[in-house]
Amino acid sequence: SDARKFFVGGNWKCNGSVQQVNDLVSMLNQSTLSTDTEVVVCPSQVYVQGVSEKLRKDIGVGAQDCWVQGNGAFTGETSADMLADMGVGWVVIGHSERRGKGEADEEVARKAKYALDKGLKVIACCGEPLESREAGTTNDFVFPQIKAYADVFSKEDWANVVIAYEPIWAIGTGLTATPEQAQDTHADIRQYLGEVAGADVAESTRILYGGSATGATAPGLSAKPDIDGFLVGGASLKPEFADIVNCQG
Ligand code: PEP
Repeated sequence: SDARKFFVGGNWKCNGSVQQVNDLVSMLNQSTLSTDTEVVVCPSQVYVQGVSEKLRKDIGVGAQDCWVQGNGAFTGETSADMLADMGVGWVVIGHSERRGKGEADEEVARKAKYALDKGLKVIACCGEPLESREAGTTNDFVFPQIKAYADVFSKEDWANVVIAYEPIWAIGTGLTATPEQAQDTHADIRQYLGEVAGADVAESTRILYGGSATGATAPGLSAKPDIDGFLVGGASLKPEFADIVNCQG
C-alpha cells in the first residue's frame, strides 16, 4: 500500500570486525538508495555507536535486542534506556535466534513495550518453525506472538512498530518463502492484527518478510500487496543489500 513506506532492515547479527564494519559503512555511504525506502541497519551492540557516527544520516541504526527493563544489577544486558540515551532509533525484538534461547511471547512483548516507552522504535519479530509450516498450523504459532504484542501495545505504540514475519525454516537456510507463501501469511497476520489491534493499525502497520531474502528474490516478494519490506540477515552484509533496498524499481 502507498500509505506504508517500504522498509528494509539489515540485521548484521553477531558479525563483523572493526575493519569489516567500517567497510560496510563505506559501502552503504557510497550506495545509491531509493528515497522511497526507509532503511535501518542493526550492527552488533559494540559497533552501534561507531556506526551511528559514521553512517549517512538517511539510514537509521538499531540494536538487535535489549533488556526487558531498566538499568540495574543485570550483568551483560543493555537497557532500552541506554540505547535511547545514545540516540539509537530502533531495536529488533523477538528475533527467533533469541526466542530460541528461551524468550517466551509474553517476555518478548513486555520487552518491546518497555523499549517503546523509552522512545525506541521496534522491529517486532514473529515466525513459525518448519513443523508448523508442514502441519499447516502456521497461524496457530504466529497469531499468539502477534496477540502478545497487541495485548501490551497502545494504538500510539503501533505507529512506532514494524512487524517482521520471519519463518524460522527460511532464516539463514537459503530457503526463501515463495511470494505466495509469504503473501498468504502476511495477509493472515494483517487480518488478525485488525481483530486484535483495530482496522486502522492493520492498514497502517508495515509487515516485513525475513528469511533468506536476496537481491534476486526481493522483487517478486515485494510485488505482493501485503509485503511492505524486508528484514535481511546474510545479504545485509553484502553490496546486494542495496539491490533489496531498491527492489521496487
Ligand atoms: C534474519 O535473521 O533476520 C534473517 C532474515 O536472516 P537471513 O536473511 O540470513 O535469512
